Amino acid sequence: MNKKSVEDIDVKDKKVLVRVDFNVPLSSKDPAEQIEVTDDTRIRAALPTINYLLDKGAAVILASHLGRPKSPEDKHLTMDPVAERLGELVDAPVKKVDEVVGPEAQAAAEALEPGQVLLLENTRFHDGEKKNDPELAQKLAAMADVYVDDAFGSAHRAHASTEGAARAMREKGGPAVAGYLMEKEIQALGKAAQDPPHPYVAIMGGAKISDKIKLIDNLLQKADKILIGGGMANTFLAAKKYEMGGSLVEEEAVAEAERLLRTAGARLVLPVDVVVVDEISADAETSVVGVENIPASKIAVDIGPETVENFGREVQNAKLVVWNGPMGIFEIDKFAHGTDYLAKILADLAEEGTEVVIGGGDSAAAVQKAGLKEKMTHVSTGGGASLEMLQGETLPGIAILDDK
Ligand code: ADP
Ligand code: MG
Repeated sequence: MNKKSVEDIDVKDKKVLVRVDFNVPLSSKDPAEQIEVTDDTRIRAALPTINYLLDKGAAVILASHLGRPKSPEDKHLTMDPVAERLGELVDAPVKKVDEVVGPEAQAAAEALEPGQVLLLENTRFHDGEKKNDPELAQKLAAMADVYVDDAFGSAHRAHASTEGAARAMREKGGPAVAGYLMEKEIQALGKAAQDPPHPYVAIMGGAKISDKIKLIDNLLQKADKILIGGGMANTFLAAKKYEMGGSLVEEEAVAEAERLLRTAGARLVLPVDVVVVDEISADAETSVVGVENIPASKIAVDIGPETVENFGREVQNAKLVVWNGPMGIFEIDKFAHGTDYLAKILADLAEEGTEVVIGGGDSAAAVQKAGLKEKMTHVSTGGGASLEMLQGETLPGIAILDDK
């Protein structure tokens, strides 16, 4: 990684502003209720950076967005429940203030001692956050001596607490570096995008091609094979003139799919069989058909067993496998087999030393649901950010950090 990390700088007795990703699910939208964090994965994911800084004698100021508040009136999106949970997870006193910047936040930051934690209010309560308002960015940076970005999932947006605060910190002469989580993401995804080991097999799925044309194009330049499943495969199959029945097909992307098929030739591998149903429901009767035999009345909801076997064979000799997009409508258990089997194959490969990198929000959720997250080399915490990174794009929140 060519970006500096927390280990490359001195943080003793410094005030360190850390942009974390505490965008966690909450138990209620009703501010009158006792709101709790229902999944603290993202808070735990930030602990290595927070604990490192505390151990090294820093005072840690944390900033994050939470949900999509329209204004501070969206009180159910206050960081209070996050502060509560964080206090249970971190071995240090956690203070919380009710503003992002301002006199209260500033006074709390000034009073903060080494080994203590201060959590600022939801950054999106401030209307300057999404506009990357330089004044907000400067006020954030003014509270600290060092800026650390550990919020990979927000790195593709230039907001005041991400790109803005890093820039403001550099302007006042302080370091702006990556936290451990950010470093791990840059290493895994950056390597896949820039300098992948070969053989490199990419697996793509999910709902739509149209969101991911740039990604497929980029993967076609870097990967030796691309295996395509899920709803995305339907549009490719339609481009090959197969009957797709009531399956999700993006008519407006068929021409694009034809182009990709021509460019890729045999490097692009499509399903040979699919699981079909009459209707998308949890108790639908499923059957498996070859892709040349999809009845006009049926809907393809998953890849079939022969396709899973083919995909399994294609990845066997890979040094790197990158997977984005579920192989079927995995939210319904009956249609999750293709995704689950593939996850199992990849988990086994990862255990044998193949690098297996998972990107995309739903893909990460699918791997988690299959109970195989820990076995993979890397499961990205960023949805959109991981896709942009794999696309070979420079993310503004990363580009601004200090080079090694
Ligand atoms: P990611 O978030 O990992 O990038 P996407 O958002 O592109 O993945 O795709 C995930 C969605 O694709 C899931 O909601 C899943 O239900 C849907 N999907 C997968 N296969 C199909 C299919 N055959 N028909 C319709 N939707 C599908
Ligand atoms: Mg998604």
